[in-house]
Amino acid sequence: MKKYPYLLILICFLLHVSVQAQGNNGEQAEEAETRLYTPATVPSPKEYGQQYYVSDPDHFLRPTMTDSLNRLCHDLYRTTEAELAIVLISGFDEDKWWASDFCNELFNSWGIGSSERNTGVLLFFSLGTRDIRIHTGYGVEGLLPDAVCDIIIDNDIQYLSAGDYNTGIWGMANGITNQLLTDQAREELLLGWTPKRHSEEDDLVYNYLFISLIALILLTIIVMVKLGKLSKASFDKRPQLIDKTGNTQTKLGCLSIFFPLTLPFLYYAYRKQRKTFRDIPYSCPSCGGEMKRLPEEDFEKKATEAQKKENKLHIFRFDYWECPMCGQTGVARFMDKAYSNYKDCKTCGEHALKYMDYKVTTQPTYDKRGEGSKRYQCEVCGAESFVTYSIMSLYEREQARIREERRREAERYSSSGSSSSSGGSWGGGSSGGGGAGRKF
Ligand SMILES: [Zn+2]
Ligand SMILES: [Zn+2]
Repeated sequence: MKKYPYLLILICFLLHVSVQAQGNNGEQAEEAETRLYTPATVPSPKEYGQQYYVSDPDHFLRPTMTDSLNRLCHDLYRTTEAELAIVLISGFDEDKWWASDFCNELFNSWGIGSSERNTGVLLFFSLGTRDIRIHTGYGVEGLLPDAVCDIIIDNDIQYLSAGDYNTGIWGMANGITNQLLTDQAREELLLGWTPKRHSEEDDLVYNYLFISLIALILLTIIVMVKLGKLSKASFDKRPQLIDKTGNTQTKLGCLSIFFPLTLPFLYYAYRKQRKTFRDIPYSCPSCGGEMKRLPEEDFEKKATEAQKKENKLHIFRFDYWECPMCGQTGVARFMDKAYSNYKDCKTCGEHALKYMDYKVTTQPTYDKRGEGSKRYQCEVCGAESFVTYSIMSLYEREQARIREERRREAERYSSSGSSSSSGGSWGGGSSGGGGAGRKF
């Protein structure tokens, strides 16, 4: 019987040890779940898109609550351009940061709020250190002074203490947005950006005018240089140069899309100039006298059959020049509007080879290419010529179709989804450390 008390003490001791061990296990489990963040490792919600404001990597909030908060913040942004970021983390290293320092670093590295007006607010929650804090940017310190932040936290801190993070954070986020959405606040937040918009537009107009002016000067110089070259050029050279200015005209036309203000003038001047380029008298290659251009009626008398044909088909235009002193003649040939529809004929050398039709000579199969033949005929000498070409196999055609579909899909994705699917960014605002916070 004397052994029982010892046995009882032994049992009690064993029980005590096992309970303590369980307690230790429990504490270790909780510590393992507490991830320690640095301001650099808190994931930015903007990675998901422009209308995301809540960073809750350890999932303290219900998904529906996160959605509601994102909507609340986005509505605030749309009406006032103020950005409210909400961050919930399991903890950070208290030896390295105060909550206010952590918030300030996070706030400025993300750049919450507009970069000009600094209208950003950060609602910060850290469970491990039991910190709740409202951190304000310079631009909202007037609307959310420290005392007001204190009141907003006071109103709902009991929910955080009780572990009901959803209700607590929702209450505080609404406290903040209510403060920023009063008529007076909206006016103040919006008034801030009116002058900014103006200066940005002024800059744009100024830059545009400046670039246009530079473009105008440069192009005028180019025209002058070309004009100088032209008046000295011979019969063969000048039409080539003029035809090149034709290309330049097209380029100028394209450019004027970007600088519609200045370039039409230049374009117009250039067109007029081009007509007079043709009229600058050539100097006679034999006697050096000034040649005269023959009237258009004389063309039929002077022209060869090939030239008549090319003239009729609008491949070339011809100017005939004659020297009144020694009778020397010269012909200047210019590309006309149909020039690019023709190729050079190897038989007669004229630029009059026209595409007629094609014939498939070998049908393509699934894995082998086919072959075809394009038929050309010269409008001047009538000679035919053939060019063989390769036809995609059915497999290649299928692959090309798939590639094309993918490309279109990607295009649609990137053009429609800049706000919904791809990432966004904060406005670039900064904070001087205003706000309020405490332990819950
Ligand atoms: Zn002459
Ligand atoms: Zn020919």
